Amino acid sequence: MSLLNSFIKIGTYWQMATKNEKNALNKIARLGCILCRTAFGVQDSPAELHHYRRFGQPRSASDILPLCPEHHRGNSGVHGLGRKGFEAKWKVTQDTLLEKVHELLKL
Ligand SMILES: [Zn+2]
Ligand SMILES: [Zn+2]
Repeated sequence: MSLLNSFIKIGTYWQMATKNEKNALNKIARLGCILCRTAFGVQDSPAELHHYRRFGQPRSASDILPLCPEHHRGNSGVHGLGRKGFEAKWKVTQDTLLEKVHELLKL
């Protein structure tokens, strides 16, 4: 069973993703929640994939943040608080989190 079966799929993006992109998405999901990792040092929070789209950029696997259900859809999450609220509460921008994801994927 694919690890991603337990994750929220990203609609049409997932369906249209190439094999390489799907591999990338699997790797991202395996990192665990990037906010838990950054804020609390927890490395294995189960993650959902949040498609954070940078303005003017086409959709791609490089725009995806792994976030646990709470930090994704919960009261302290990016959808619960909205982008500005989320970044103010956690004192981190989604850009910074995304850079962190990219750093970790290089290892
Ligand atoms: Zn989290
Ligand atoms: Zn999301």
